[in-house]
Amino acid sequence: MVSNDDLQRFYSDKGVSGSCPSCGQSQWEIGTAPDDKTDWALSSVRTDGSAFLPAPSVPAVILVCANCFTLRLHAYLGIKKWLDEHPISGAKA
Ligand SMILES: [Zn+2]
Repeated sequence: MVSNDDLQRFYSDKGVSGSCPSCGQSQWEIGTAPDDKTDWALSSVRTDGSAFLPAPSVPAVILVCANCFTLRLHAYLGIKKWLDEHPISGAKA
């Protein structure tokens, strides 16, 4: 989905802090998807108990604090758009 190098480039450009808001440590691990056909997403639920499948969801990049296991989420599509607009070569996509 998003490599660690890509995420570091994005963070550097956006000025994102690396510290965990819970414990202050700064070692994060990208949540690896269960398999190559699955990505993480923040899913919605219906408040009346009914089901709508697939549930509307927001594709997400999930990071896990290596110290206290706090979860950190980013909307994948926003990062993907930035990566497409800022390829490693520096040229516009
Ligand atoms: Zn932490």
